[in-house]
Amino acid sequence: MTKNSKDPIDRYAKSSLQDLIGVGIRDIVATLRRETFEPDYDNPGQEIRRIYLGDYLLTPSGKVYMPWATSNLEACPRCKGKDKTPTCRRCNGYGSAEAWDDECWNDRLEQIPLPPNVFLAWEDGDLFAIEVRDAEEAVTTAE
Ligand SMILES: [Zn+2]
Repeated sequence: MTKNSKDPIDRYAKSSLQDLIGVGIRDIVATLRRETFEPDYDNPGQEIRRIYLGDYLLTPSGKVYMPWATSNLEACPRCKGKDKTPTCRRCNGYGSAEAWDDECWNDRLEQIPLPPNVFLAWEDGDLFAIEVRDAEEAVTTAE
């Protein structure tokens, strides 16, 4: 583990789900399995079940912001937010080390392998683990 590395890419490169959000994949799957599948009204023919994992406070910055409106983020301590090219390794040209930390953290989160039909999704600043299945599959399983 290189948690103290100054480069966030290195810092999160080997992070597990447990490291990133404080919950491991086994616990997530076990908790999901206790939930009931419900119709997915956005995707007819599919059913989903979900569990809440946490909100934006899970991210390194713990802040909510849009990529184009980062005024609530601290300026990069190295370039003071002035270097808009990736030559500044601390912020990768984001102008804010917090934004770059969040980006690297999110990239790592997306890379972590999950069981088939299980994925993580952000909805309105909340992170969920979601499992999907075909509704036909449910009928077959119930019989
Ligand atoms: Zn910088």
